[in-house]
Amino acid sequence: MVQSVRLSARSNVQEELKQIRQHLLDEKEALLQSSSQLPPSLELEISVCEQALCKCAEGCYGYCDSCGESIELNRLKADPLVRYCLACSSRYKIE
Ligand SMILES: [Zn+2]
Repeated sequence: MVQSVRLSARSNVQEELKQIRQHLLDEKEALLQSSSQLPPSLELEISVCEQALCKCAEGCYGYCDSCGESIELNRLKADPLVRYCLACSSRYKIE
């Protein structure tokens, strides 16, 4: 039961990730039209997004990069690109 809830939540997140990636790519495209300099943060966000989509495809999305525990769903909903569980992010002061 819990598993199927997680799975459907995960597929919603995957859709959201695709939209975020599309948005970031559009933004990148627009920036490239107006200047040749891309903010490093944008490149980083795109790569984090790509990695998250990759994890979705492998079925290992939603697990903490640090401890491997599953990340709280409300954290993923708030920010689908989040890579650490609550415990790790507060332990390392990372978001
Ligand atoms: Zn963790």
